[in-house]
Amino acid sequence: MITIKSQREIDLMKEAGRIVAVCHQEISKLIKPGITTKRIDTLVEEIILKNGGKPSFKGYQGFPSSICASLNDVVVHGMPSNNKLKNGDILSVDIGVDYKGYHGDSAWTYPVGTISDSNKLLLEVTEKSLFEGLAFAKAGNRLSDISHAIEKYAKLYSYGVVEEFTGHGIGRDLHEDPPIPNFGTSGTGPTLKSGMTLAIEPMINAGTKRVKIMIDGWTTKTVDGLNSAHYEHTILITKDGYEILTTT
Ligand code: MG
Ligand code: MG
Repeated sequence: MITIKSQREIDLMKEAGRIVAVCHQEISKLIKPGITTKRIDTLVEEIILKNGGKPSFKGYQGFPSSICASLNDVVVHGMPSNNKLKNGDILSVDIGVDYKGYHGDSAWTYPVGTISDSNKLLLEVTEKSLFEGLAFAKAGNRLSDISHAIEKYAKLYSYGVVEEFTGHGIGRDLHEDPPIPNFGTSGTGPTLKSGMTLAIEPMINAGTKRVKIMIDGWTTKTVDGLNSAHYEHTILITKDGYEILTTT
């Protein structure tokens, strides 16, 4: 069931989303060669707690950290580690915040130092694919209109669109109905309504779409070892379009 949020619920989700956005703003200044993802995780957790929130991911189905830190060929669900970031890496950081029982969820991929032109293009196209999808986020449209637009744009660059993981409804639970694939034909699935809150999150690979889950049960990598990027916003569907909740 896709829930429609009340104004009170939307206000709580806006605060959750604001805290997520503050975390991204703060870490964007710190992501450089030499820092560890464990350090970033600790800082994010401090910011979340200081703002009256709780990290949504920590303890979620046993996940050990406040952020997912997915480096280079890790697509999603990477775990923070004590390895230092290196010049030329790309790092996807996914952050979830629970504020008084309501969640915000947003991921960004960051360049570490100076990155290659091919990595730059992967980041630009993945970010743009999110907004290509969001252009169809509007009451009256069908859910797969968003999915189709994301896939269509990423495929212009012959990138692999990950199929095993999807966006999702969000609110009281971090993951609610409906699942939101980043591929498919337009004009299908539920009709979007004002008051729905959704997390849209393209995961785009430089090469094959195929992914494999590592022995830890979380870390998901590309099968061909090429890099992957991930951008996500939590949004509210309105009658005229959408409002991004994971912003300040
Ligand atoms: Mg996320
Ligand atoms: Mg999500």
